[in-house]
Amino acid sequence: LLEARGVSAWFGSHRVLEGVSLVMGAGEVTALIGPSGCGKSTFLRVLNRMHELVPSASLAGEVLLDGGDVYGRGWRLQDVRRDIGMVFQKPNPFPAMSIYDNVVSGLRLTGRRVSRDVRDEIVVRSLVSAGLWGEVRDRLRQPGGGLSGGQQQRLCIARALAVRPRVLLMDEPCSALDPTSTRVIEETMGQLRREVTIVIVTHNMQQAARVSQRCAFFLASQGMPGQIVEYGDTDAMFSEPQDERTFDYVNGRF
Ligand code: ATP
Ligand code: MG
Repeated sequence: LLEARGVSAWFGSHRVLEGVSLVMGAGEVTALIGPSGCGKSTFLRVLNRMHELVPSASLAGEVLLDGGDVYGRGWRLQDVRRDIGMVFQKPNPFPAMSIYDNVVSGLRLTGRRVSRDVRDEIVVRSLVSAGLWGEVRDRLRQPGGGLSGGQQQRLCIARALAVRPRVLLMDEPCSALDPTSTRVIEETMGQLRREVTIVIVTHNMQQAARVSQRCAFFLASQGMPGQIVEYGDTDAMFSEPQDERTFDYVNGRF
């Protein structure tokens, strides 16, 4: 269970998020929706501590993973990255590296050496979970860059899963993909949510409705920082939104 409490975020003096609180439950897919620039990607980067890599960035609030404050003393950056994996809009495998080694490269976050047998197991398990195993089992030594866009994205998912993260953050994972690959990844997410908490940012309302159980609508209106306008059960939010702005957004009115 991943929980944000009162998260505000700045770039320099520009506040881009204000007081965002959200519970992202285990076994669930949470979709973050909202117009461009409202702070969805920033919020994901706050969750896995990538936000602090920007020199001008600052933040307030708490992020709790299974009750532990990921900004607290007990956590090294490396631990946070291991437990909270991330997949980006543009598939970014190491193109010249083999499919096998791409998955293994995810393990660098553990800082531990593992035997060949264990590596083999991890590669198979991760590729199966990412829904790619059947397509690549005979070509694990071929370069990752030789795969189709949708396959490359699933390879990135497998790489993120290699360390068995507790959470997988996905920032518009399908927006660079064709409809068929998108469908395959959506099916994969349906299976995956049993083993990992998933948070997905998407501009595609049909996708949010298909893949998520919970949904949060972010909005930054008139120069105000991004906030959550409405949060709840996805079906309820799409069928009977409580806020007029949510209604307009989910119906494509802005
Ligand atoms: P989109 O849907 O277009 O991806 P978003 O909701 O993900 O948008 P963010 O990328 O989080 O929005 O951006 C939120 C605000 O923060 C924007 O005003 C953006 O210009 C600003 N911002 C994002 N990254 C930086 C950065 N590295 N330095 C300064 N400002 C930034
Ligand atoms: Mg974004």
